[in-house]
Amino acid sequence: MSVAADPRHTASRAASVLAATGVTVRFGGVVALSNVSVDVPPGTIVGLVGPNGAGKSTLFGVMSGLLRPASGRVFIDGRDVTALSPQLRARLGLARTFQHPELFMGLTVREHLVVAHRARYERRRFWSDLLSFRALLFPPTEQETDQVDELLDLLGLSDLAATQVSVLPLGLARLVEVGRALATHPSVVLLDEPLSGLDVRATDNLTAAFERVVVNSANGLSLLMVEHDVASVLALSGRIFVLNFGQLIAEGTPEEIRADPAVRDAYLGDEDATAAGVSPPAAGGAVPTDDDETTTPGSES
Ligand code: ADP
Ligand code: MG
Repeated sequence: MSVAADPRHTASRAASVLAATGVTVRFGGVVALSNVSVDVPPGTIVGLVGPNGAGKSTLFGVMSGLLRPASGRVFIDGRDVTALSPQLRARLGLARTFQHPELFMGLTVREHLVVAHRARYERRRFWSDLLSFRALLFPPTEQETDQVDELLDLLGLSDLAATQVSVLPLGLARLVEVGRALATHPSVVLLDEPLSGLDVRATDNLTAAFERVVVNSANGLSLLMVEHDVASVLALSGRIFVLNFGQLIAEGTPEEIRADPAVRDAYLGDEDATAAGVSPPAAGGAVPTDDDETTTPGSES
C-alpha cells in the first residue's frame, strides 16, 4: 500500500495547521526524502520518528523553509507557503525550537520571554537584532507582564523567572526555549529533538509541559516533535509518522505504530529499538509476533 497515495492526505490538508505533501529532497545522489506527506491537525501533538539518516531533519528543514524540496508543497493553515521564507512562515504561525537552545545567557528567564513577546510585533528585525535595539531598555507593559506571567506559570517556570538562563540545566533551558517559541503565539511549534540529553526527570518535566501547553491552548496549538526517543513520542503523541531511508513507512496512533511490522523491521538492529518499545510489544501482548526477530544484538546486556 502506498501511504503517499492515501486520499486522506488531500482531504485533511485544509484542516491541518501544518502539512507537507509529496515532498522529495535530493542531496547529490542521495534521496533524503521521497514523496513524503505528513499533516498536523489542530490541537494535537504529532511525532516524527525514524532511525538515523531517515530524513527527519530534512523534512523539518523543508517545513520550516530552510530547505527547498525538489518537489512537493508545504501548507500552513491550508495556505501554500512552499515559496515563502522561514521568516514569513514564522509570521504565519510556524515556530520552532532548536536542539541546542539559542538563549542569551545574560538574560533572565522572564526577560527572554518579554523579548520574545516583543519580537512578534517587530516585523522587519530578526530576533537576534532585537537586543541591539535594546528591546529591554523599556520596561514591560502591564499586558506584557500578564502574558509572560501566564506563560511562566504554564511552563512551570514561575519560581525561576528572575534566574539567569546561563545557570539553568539543559532541561529547563529547553523549557525557556519552548516558552520563547510560544511567546510569538504560533499555531504550530516544530520541536527538534527536545528530549535529547535529558534524564528521566527532566524528560517527564518537559513532556508534562508539552501536554499542558496543548491542552491549555485556546486556539488549537499543535506540536510537531522530531525525536530520537521513540518511547516518549509514543507516550505523548496522538499521531506518529515514521520515516525510514527517506520513505514514509507508517503513520497512525501509538497503538498502530507499536503493532506495525514495517516499523519494527526498521528499528531492528537499531540499539534504540528495545528502549523504544517498538520491537517487542511493551505490555499486553496484543501485537502479533510473526516476525520474531524482536531481540536486537546487544539487548541482553
Ligand atoms: P535524520 O534527521 O532522520 O537523521 P537527515 O534528514 O539528517 O536524517 O538525513 C537524511 C539523509 O540525507 C541522510 O542520508 C543524510 O546523510 C543526507 N543528508 C542530510 N543533509 C545533507 C546535506 N546537507 N548534504 C548531503 N546529504 C545530506
Ligand atoms: Mg536529524
